[in-house]
Amino acid sequence: MPTEKTDTLVVGAGQAGIAMSEHLSAQGIPHLVLEKNRVAEAWRTGRWESLVANGPAWHDRFPNLEFEGCDPDGFPTKTIVATYMETYARMIDAPIRTGVEVAKAERNQGRPGFTVETSAGKIEALNVVAATGAFQHPVIPPVVPESEGVTQLHSFHYKSPDQLPEGAVLVVGAGSSGAQIADELNRAGRRVYLSVGPHERPPRAYRGRDFCWWLGVLGLWDMAAAEPGKEHVTISVSGAYGGQTMDFRRLASEGVTLLGLTEACTEGVVRFRDDLRTNIAAGDASYIQMLDLADAYTTRNGLDLPQEPEARDMLPDPECLTNPIRELDLKGAGITTIIWATGFRQDFSWMKVDAFDESGRPRHQRGVSSEPGIYFLGLPWQSRRGSTFIWGVWHDAKYVAEQIAIQGKYRAYRGASDHQASAS
Ligand SMILES: Cc1cc2nc3c(=O)[nH]c(=O)nc-3n(C[C@H](O)[C@H](O)[C@H](O)COP(=O)(O)OP(=O)(O)OC[C@H]3O[C@@H](n4cnc5c(N)ncnc54)[C@H](O)[C@@H]3O)c2cc1C
Repeated sequence: MPTEKTDTLVVGAGQAGIAMSEHLSAQGIPHLVLEKNRVAEAWRTGRWESLVANGPAWHDRFPNLEFEGCDPDGFPTKTIVATYMETYARMIDAPIRTGVEVAKAERNQGRPGFTVETSAGKIEALNVVAATGAFQHPVIPPVVPESEGVTQLHSFHYKSPDQLPEGAVLVVGAGSSGAQIADELNRAGRRVYLSVGPHERPPRAYRGRDFCWWLGVLGLWDMAAAEPGKEHVTISVSGAYGGQTMDFRRLASEGVTLLGLTEACTEGVVRFRDDLRTNIAAGDASYIQMLDLADAYTTRNGLDLPQEPEARDMLPDPECLTNPIRELDLKGAGITTIIWATGFRQDFSWMKVDAFDESGRPRHQRGVSSEPGIYFLGLPWQSRRGSTFIWGVWHDAKYVAEQIAIQGKYRAYRGASDHQASAS
């Protein structure tokens, strides 16, 4: 059988792959999208059951389609998001093949393009776009040995409180996932310990506007790079229970015990860094800074938005904050489960191309890699803060498609010297 050929091969049919397909079609570039599972698989099986989008429906979407079955100011469930992606892919007639895994992409020798090995055979493509996502493989730091006998799972594998054995739960990580899971478990009557690292926690809403709106008008979603040293600070937000500010003092007042960063474990005793107060204070500072920026913007633009002075009131510091626990005996505290909400790593092992630095990170500018013909999409901070989010990836996809089109025009160029060569 002759090898199938296409101009551009997109790997992954999450939001990044779908957005990529839309913009490639707009540029008239023939392409294929290969997806090893189903469209938007991450939203189907890679999230816990009660998860809703962290941003409101009017905001966390592509520009050309609104959500169905959700109030624009509400937070779509993960099922609504998955259905949205599927509908969108159909609407733009995206050439997606599901159930096809890409095993290897290698540069052709002595001719342009790449040979791509898939579970359904070989494909040749002039360009390959890795749209495989920023949140691929769950990462559990090797802190608590298996021999401690507690159930350990990553937030990626957490589904609901019923799934866990009886007993108290230690949740490690207080980004959006860890904080939301801790909240859910606490509401379900579990004894919950939450290990809190550095984070930002914007107000869910302020002066009648959601924080997504504030970040938008303040230009913060479009920030091109994180402030030095701040790249890995996670944002702790939640659309759960109608949307609420992630307030760790509130969680503590409702029964959650806050702890510093989880550092080590020996003989059943987990040790925590003495940084809880610092982390909470930095989170508070980010919260207050957002209120200040919003107030300044409101005044400068003469906006008629309701005052909200009570947003600056803080709950009293709980005992676990004034007198942080530094060591916890797992058995003594009745902890039977540890949930690691500690992030993900990417996997580009299938790409046998010169597009990575010494530590294996993509070498690229706004998704255009150092290997001509290889592109990335959906990377954290690919071009801006919003790059991994639904609306942000759409704009990055547009840029990447434009770059592919520009290179296509150079490839198609035939100058006088080419004509002379073919005439002789
Ligand atoms: C818990 C959680 C909540 C989030 N909530 C929001 C939110 O509310 N709003 C928002 O804007 N963003 C949110 N995000 C961020 C982001 O929108 C999602 O992570 C989204 O799924 C990323 O889309 P993606 O297309 O980049 O990657 P993915 O959705 O992960 O898609 C990549 C696809 O590539 C496929 N794939 C991987 N390797 C191969 C291969 N070798 N061959 C073929 N296919 C392959 C995978 O099966 C997958 O379907 C959230 C993220 C997490 C983790």
